[in-house]
Amino acid sequence: MEDCVFCKMFTGEVQTRKVYEERDVIGVLDVAPRFAQGQCVVAHRRHVPQFYDLDDEELAQLFVGVKAVARKIGEVFHTPIVSIFSRGISVPTHNHILVFPATGEGPIDRVLVAFLAAEIVRQTTPAQLDEIAEKIRTA
Ligand SMILES: [Zn+2]
Repeated sequence: MEDCVFCKMFTGEVQTRKVYEERDVIGVLDVAPRFAQGQCVVAHRRHVPQFYDLDDEELAQLFVGVKAVARKIGEVFHTPIVSIFSRGISVPTHNHILVFPATGEGPIDRVLVAFLAAEIVRQTTPAQLDEIAEKIRTA
């Protein structure tokens, strides 16, 4: 893919601050960390939009990389909690997982607190949960 920045990271056309490379997976320091300093991006080489588009072997490689980078981040930032995030909206072209240290006080923590207080949580009934779970289970 000519215009995919992630593909260019693998070929070296885009310079990165690489923190991990094993088989077809790389981890790089994110140049625009949204959740915390030290946020890294871990991606598999195969050009598919979402992590769940990878086959099981590729997915295992990707998450072995996520684990390795998470442990490195935890060591460097002295935190026992390292979070992951993947939505695939801002960069819909190439699978990737964001990995970042969690302090309990960062932007993502504020988002989670706001989410937990939101109407969507408080107004969801057990019957709705049953209905949604059944739809997902039988999909
Ligand atoms: Zn790509």
